[in-house]
Amino acid sequence: MSSTLYGVPDDFDVIVIGGGPAGATTAGLLAKSGRRVLVLDRERHPRYHIGESLIPAVMRPMAELGLTELMDNRGFERKYGGSLVWGNNKIPWNFSFIKGGPYQYAYHTRRADFDALVLNRARQLGAHVMEEVVVKDATQDENGRVTGVRYQLRGSEEVREARASLVVDASGQARLLSRKFSEVTWHEELRNVAVWTYFDNTERLPGDEWTNILIEGLEEGWFWAIPIEKDNMSVGYVTRTERAGATDQSLQELFNSERERTTRLKHLLRNARQASAFRTARDWSYTTHQFHGDGWVLVGDSAAFVDPLFSTGVALATLAGSTLAKIIDKIIDHPAIEKEALGRYAENYRAFFDEIRTFVEKFYDQTKHKEFYYGLAQELVDPEKKNEPSADFVTLISGLSGRHPMFHINLDDLIEKSSLSPAGS
Ligand SMILES: Cc1cc2nc3c(=O)[nH]c(=O)nc-3n(C[C@H](O)[C@H](O)[C@H](O)COP(=O)(O)OP(=O)(O)OC[C@H]3O[C@@H](n4cnc5c(N)ncnc54)[C@H](O)[C@@H]3O)c2cc1C
Repeated sequence: MSSTLYGVPDDFDVIVIGGGPAGATTAGLLAKSGRRVLVLDRERHPRYHIGESLIPAVMRPMAELGLTELMDNRGFERKYGGSLVWGNNKIPWNFSFIKGGPYQYAYHTRRADFDALVLNRARQLGAHVMEEVVVKDATQDENGRVTGVRYQLRGSEEVREARASLVVDASGQARLLSRKFSEVTWHEELRNVAVWTYFDNTERLPGDEWTNILIEGLEEGWFWAIPIEKDNMSVGYVTRTERAGATDQSLQELFNSERERTTRLKHLLRNARQASAFRTARDWSYTTHQFHGDGWVLVGDSAAFVDPLFSTGVALATLAGSTLAKIIDKIIDHPAIEKEALGRYAENYRAFFDEIRTFVEKFYDQTKHKEFYYGLAQELVDPEKKNEPSADFVTLISGLSGRHPMFHINLDDLIEKSSLSPAGS
């Protein structure tokens, strides 16, 4: 490995742009396999990020990274299920992850702490992590193949280059390479905005619901309430972009007036104090057309984003990161399979994403009874009706519990084909 200024190496197997959950998981697992990995993040962790409620599917990549015990030790709040005020049920209804698969709980986290934990693990596993470094662009050879990145340290004028066999874009909604190389489809059904803040001195849901996320639907939107610490909650309101634009109220005013119309949430907040300023995001869902190209590949939000209704973002990002790490590990040993192997990754990742998105879109119809939503889940994940529909619902919103082909992509046929080819290609 060659060295440049200040001893920072400039030649790697893989460069990962972005050290969020997607990038840190991909990088950590590649480093664990002995690969030379560079991670570049424009922020210094811990850094703020929205998305505090995790689903059980995230436990699988966390186990691969050796982080499950640490998540308890760090005091992250275990999450055993959810409570819903949704659809035309007269009374609120609950789900418990215990019904849904191998992992019976997930966590609520402060994302700054969770993301720093995963990135630090990547570092411990041997990834070279640089923070406060902005990636400006990809470098390409005369054939257009991506060969590395140009990056700049915060506060410095100097632009440096690093090279790698493959560049992974895990830059989240910044979509650095995804913007450069591909169009995107915006999912019209999910053109939403979110406004959220944090409260102290909140109440908890009663009894078995104590650790649940609360999702409370209203006519024109819905609230999340995520218990992060003992009496601190993340509370957010999501509504259609066009509806937010059609009222005279600001998003903050809308949050406060809609909050007054809730039932369970209002109760949880009856003695609460708002503990931080409001934040907003245009959380439109999208899928990038091309997940990979010559020398580059996308993972996490840079590939696709789905509305936060079922808290799937971090699970999708880390599961895809785990799958991608295994695929890249094989590509490094068998470069001739790159295009087809990444194609297989893209196809399966897209299908996994679409399954969840389709369900979220249909779930937004709040005119139905819970049995209808259970039935929808069964159609998607258990068409042969082997399990109870309510169990299929939990399986789906747990992140499919490892059943999806995305978790078991086999490349043996490609490797065999490439070894039989005289040119190795
Ligand atoms: C309103 C809202 C609520 C949500 N709620 C949840 C939830 O409850 N649960 C859940 O699981 N998900 C939730 N999500 C989604 C979740 O936050 C994301 O899906 C998740 O963070 C994706 O991880 P990532 O690693 O792909 O991207 P990120 O976490 O965004 O990480 C990308 C990283 O790339 C870095 N970066 C960007 N550009 C550059 C550059 N040019 N150079 C260097 N570094 C760069 C950034 O600094 C960042 O650290 C929510 C999203 C929204 C909008």
